[in-house]
Amino acid sequence: MVLERQREPLRPQDRPVPPVGEGQLLVQVDACAVCRTDLHVVDGELPDPRLPLVPGHQIAGTVVESHSPSFSAGERVGVPWLGWTCGRCRYCTTGRENLCDHARFTGYTLDGGYAERAVADARFCFRLPGGYSFEEAAPLLCAGLIGYRAYRMCAAARRLGFYGFGSAAQILTQVARADGREVHAFTRPDDAAAQELARAQGAVWAGGSGERVPLDAAIVFAPAGPLVVEALRNLEKGGLVVCAGIHMSDVPSFPYELLWGERVVRSVANLTREDGTSFFARLASLRVETRRRAYPLEDANQALADLRSGALVGTAVLRV
Ligand SMILES: [Zn+2]
Ligand SMILES: [Zn+2]
Repeated sequence: MVLERQREPLRPQDRPVPPVGEGQLLVQVDACAVCRTDLHVVDGELPDPRLPLVPGHQIAGTVVESHSPSFSAGERVGVPWLGWTCGRCRYCTTGRENLCDHARFTGYTLDGGYAERAVADARFCFRLPGGYSFEEAAPLLCAGLIGYRAYRMCAAARRLGFYGFGSAAQILTQVARADGREVHAFTRPDDAAAQELARAQGAVWAGGSGERVPLDAAIVFAPAGPLVVEALRNLEKGGLVVCAGIHMSDVPSFPYELLWGERVVRSVANLTREDGTSFFARLASLRVETRRRAYPLEDANQALADLRSGALVGTAVLRV
């Protein structure tokens, strides 16, 4: 499925199998989970994608051809958002490759996984954890990985607030609970289905985003700037608000006293390979369940529409 121009539907297209270069893998895609970032690319909220583009950056599949010593044909592999970095800039050389000035991103500036075949740089791919089907593993590759990066920034906060209960919050609630944290899930006030899902996955409390609940840290997953202020209103002194999305509407102005007391607002951008390694190591002793809705690849536009409208509870996964 190909995006020819932003703000237009994806179109099915027959393409030749892409050439595979040195250090790359040819992957037979089995499942590709749909991320809100895909919507931002399709809807034109993120500038300058490669066009025409195959979207999708949560790819789970099988290596069919390997031009790298680190993977063999037949292995189960995951392809995440971070697709290439320069290795030389001041960010790459200081352990911050997620901020690389020249980074390339799967399903944005590189072709992604809304396709039968994908090509990826082996250095940025992960072996899929055992015990997860392709469909189960796909949401781990962005919602899981970047969510985990945001979660680790919350350090030892005991009372966590998650604003927006989509794919990432589902996964992180289970990790946080296993780590002995309390998760408070904030959703649209009338979204009983999301609140019920949050409680089922281990949140100690779920309610509307305007509710007052004391928090040590909050992660804002939803792309709505006013939620940053709502989160700040709930934050104890020394607390942290992490904005986990790549795009967000404007954050309204707010009184300085909400930030006073060494409260911090920050974003989390992309992932490093180390985030992935740590996350999958964490999953070795923790089984994470996600609620998913599977769509055939050719229904990618419907999956995006359901995510856009808020009608989707859980994670959309395209099956190839
Ligand atoms: Zn770099
Ligand atoms: Zn994503």
